[in-house]
Amino acid sequence: MNELDQPVSALDGVGEALSAKLARLRIDTVSDLLFHLPLRYQDRTRITPIGILRAGMEGVVEGEVAAADVVKGRRRSLLVRLKDGSGIISLRFFHFSPAQQQQFAPGVHVRCFGEARAGATGLEIYHPEYRLLKAGETPVEDHLTPIYPTTEGLTQPRLRGLIGQAMRRLDATPQALPDGIPEPLRERFRLPELQSCLHYLHEPPPDADLERLADGTHPTQRRLALEELLAHQLSLRQVRLRIQADGAPPLPSGRSLQTRFVTQLPFSLTGAQRRVLDEIARDLETAQPMLRLVQGDVGSGKTVVAAMAALAAIAGGCQAAVMAPTEILAEQHFRNFHDWFTPLGIDVAWLAGKLKGKARLDTKAAIADGRAQVVVGTHALFQDDVHFHRLGLAIVDEQHRFGVHQRLALRQKGEAGGLTPHQLIMTATPIPRTLAMSAYADLDLSVIDELPPGRTPVQTVAVPDERRPEVVERIRRACDAGRQAYWVCTLIEESEALQCQAAEATRDALTEALPELAVGLVHGRMKAAEKAEVMAAFKVGELDLLVATTVIEVGVDVPNASLMIIENPERLGLSQLHQLRGRVGRGDTESFCVLLYRPPLSAHSRERLGVMRETSDGFRIAEKDLELRGPGEVLGTRQTGLAQMKIADLERDRDLLERVSPLARALLEEAPDASGPLIRRWLGDEAGRYGQV
Ligand code: ADP
Ligand code: MG
Repeated sequence: MNELDQPVSALDGVGEALSAKLARLRIDTVSDLLFHLPLRYQDRTRITPIGILRAGMEGVVEGEVAAADVVKGRRRSLLVRLKDGSGIISLRFFHFSPAQQQQFAPGVHVRCFGEARAGATGLEIYHPEYRLLKAGETPVEDHLTPIYPTTEGLTQPRLRGLIGQAMRRLDATPQALPDGIPEPLRERFRLPELQSCLHYLHEPPPDADLERLADGTHPTQRRLALEELLAHQLSLRQVRLRIQADGAPPLPSGRSLQTRFVTQLPFSLTGAQRRVLDEIARDLETAQPMLRLVQGDVGSGKTVVAAMAALAAIAGGCQAAVMAPTEILAEQHFRNFHDWFTPLGIDVAWLAGKLKGKARLDTKAAIADGRAQVVVGTHALFQDDVHFHRLGLAIVDEQHRFGVHQRLALRQKGEAGGLTPHQLIMTATPIPRTLAMSAYADLDLSVIDELPPGRTPVQTVAVPDERRPEVVERIRRACDAGRQAYWVCTLIEESEALQCQAAEATRDALTEALPELAVGLVHGRMKAAEKAEVMAAFKVGELDLLVATTVIEVGVDVPNASLMIIENPERLGLSQLHQLRGRVGRGDTESFCVLLYRPPLSAHSRERLGVMRETSDGFRIAEKDLELRGPGEVLGTRQTGLAQMKIADLERDRDLLERVSPLARALLEEAPDASGPLIRRWLGDEAGRYGQV
C-alpha cells in the first residue's frame, strides 16, 4: 500500500483512542493529515524582549527564573518571575504539580509562548506553553506555527506532531502523493504545485503573508480550494456519465401532438419558452438520457414547457412522470395536466401519499400496465412499490429540494423497460450561471429569461405594523372589486405548532375585522386533504382571503389574486420573498405586495426590503441574496454536496468558480485518469456514494 494511504495508526504513538479522535476530524489516513489545514498561525520564529511586550500581544519570551512561589489570591497559583535583561514578567499556573514547582529553580532558563495580559503583578502570562532550555540551545522555530482545527482531548502540540510525522513521510516518499493536476495544466492555469502548497501551509516561512493566509486568499490556499471545487465538479460529471451510459428511449416524434396542444392554449408561447423547448427536443431525440435543468423566474411559464416535454414522451409511446415537492403543488399540476391533456385523449393519473386503499392499488396498476400515460404526484411516485410500464421522462419541479442521490435513483425507475428515463428538472431559483455550473455540473442548463407579455410588475410597499388597519382596509377594497388576497404569516415562533397557532389567531382577527369576506386558512399542520380543499376553494373564488404560513411558497397559481400581505418579511430570505410575491401578479390586473414589518428595522433588513421594492427581476434578487446571505443558504447546499467542502468557500472563492469548468474539461480531455484519484482525495466515501447508487 502507498505510504500515505495507510491508516493513521501506522504513525508513531497512534493507538485506538487517538485514531478515534482523529476520525472525528474526518482524518483516517496519513494523507488525510496532510490535507488537514491550519486555521491560523502563530509567530514563534522570534524571541520578543520582555521589555517590549504589551498586554494582548502574543509571543515567545525567553528568560531566567528569578523566583517561583505558590501564592494565595482568590485562587492558589504558582507564580514564576522571569527576567531577560529588558524586563520582568510573571508566568502564572493555576494547575500545577509539585514537580513542576521544583523545575522552576532560580537561574533556570525557560522559553515560553503565550499571550501577555495585565495581571496582579504587572504583565503576566497564564498557563504558557513552556520548555526548560539547555545550555547552548538554538533559538526558536524556523517556520510559523500552525494552529489546527481540533477536537476534544487532542492538543495542538499533539496534532502538530502527527502532521509533522505525515509531512516527513511525504518528504521521504514524494511520489506517493502525485499532483492531481498534471504539470501542463498547472502551467496553463497558473497553479502552484501541490506538495509545495502543503509545505507552505503546514510550515510557512517566517516572512509568510499572514494577512492573506488569514483571509484564505493565499495562492497556495486558492490552489487547494480550486482543486476541491474541481473534485466536486468531476464527481458530478461522473454521475452524469454514469446516467448517460444507460440508454434512453429516443423521443423524436412529439410535434403533431404538441401542435394540437399549443393551439388549444389561450396564449402563444414566449420566445424563451420556444427556445428552451427546442433545447429539450434536441435532447429527447437522442438515445441518451436528457439531464436538463430549466431555470425560470416565478411565473415564467415552466409548467407549459413541462407539458410539452411530456407530450413528446407520450407520442414516443412512453409514460411521463411529474413530481412536485408538496401535495398542494402536485395537486395543482394534476389539475393543469388533466385539463390540458384529457381533450387530447391522454390519461393522467394522480399519486400521492394520501391516496390509500383500493384507489392506490388501481392507480398503481394503471401505472404498471401503461394505461396511465402521465402520472403526477409527490415523492410517492418514486417509491419502491411503484412500477412504471415504460417511463420515458421524469419531470421534477423545484430542483432545490431534489438532490443528486434522487437523480441517480430515478435511473432504476425506467429499468423495467430496460431504459433510463430522460430527466427534466425545473427550478424558480435563478442562481448565477457560474454558480449553477458548479452546483449542478451534472445537468445542462436552460433558462427561460422572459416573462409572458402583459404582466404588470407587482408593486411592492413596506408598511410598519402600526398601520395594520390601513392594510386591512386595502384588503376590503381589493375584495370588493372582485379580487382575492393572500395574508402570509412567516415564522414568528420557532416551533411549527406555535407558528400555526399564530396563523390561526391572525385568521380569527381578520375574520372579525372583515365580516363580509370569506376567509380561509392553510398551514403546515393541516392534513393534506384539508389543505387541498382550502386551496381549491380559493382557486375557484369561494374564499376571498387566504391566510397561510409559508406553505404557499412554491408554485400555487391563482391569477385572480392581486394582493399579498407578508407579515414580518424581514425574517425571510430575499429569494423566498420573491417566490412568495410571485403568487400575485399572475393575471392582468395591477397587483400589490405589502411587506408588513415590525419596526425598528436593522440596516441590513432595510436594505433587503429596499431590494424587494426596487426590483422584480429574479436574477437580480438572487444576486443580492447571494451577497447578503451567502451561497450555502441560497442554494440549500445540503442537496448540492457543496456544503461539506473542507477548504473552498463559495463566497470567498466565487471567482474560482469560473475557472473550474474549463479546468475540469481540460483535465478530462488531457488526463482522464487523474479524475478518479482527485475525487477520492476530496470526497472520499462520498464519491463512492455518488457513483454507485
Ligand atoms: P412557473 O414558471 O412559475 O411555474 P407557471 O407555469 O405556473 O409559472 O405559469 C404562470 C402562469 O402563466 C400560468 O397561469 C400560465 O398558464 C401562464 N402562462 C404560461 N405561459 C404563458 C404565455 N406564453 N403567455 C401567457 N401566459 C402564460
Ligand atoms: Mg411552477
